[in-house]
Amino acid sequence: MLRAVLPDTMIIAALDIIDREGVMKYKTSWGRHHYEVLGTTSTYTVFPHLGVASTAVSSYCTCPSFAYAVLISENHLMCKHVLAVCLADRWSRCVVRPIEDDDLLLKFAGHVSS
Ligand SMILES: [Zn+2]
Repeated sequence: MLRAVLPDTMIIAALDIIDREGVMKYKTSWGRHHYEVLGTTSTYTVFPHLGVASTAVSSYCTCPSFAYAVLISENHLMCKHVLAVCLADRWSRCVVRPIEDDDLLLKFAGHVSS
């Protein structure tokens, strides 16, 4: 079913990320989850469920290919990082770590300023 909408290369890349334990799932004290994916050159923040029903894009990733392939050219529904998070979450293959509220704020602050 996945293959109908996603290219094989993206599925393989996502599985590779999961194999390398590259999907980080941070649990906050108030029960939210924050996902990060270790890419080859950088770490990307992934929001797998935006909960915005009015747009076709229901997830978001901070990597360049998401911006290009999903948001601008609309060639793909998601990038490999979003796919990796969705699959890893379903299969309980995320690397789960607790995170303090202050640390999470620092992470967001880092993304905003960089
Ligand atoms: Zn991505």
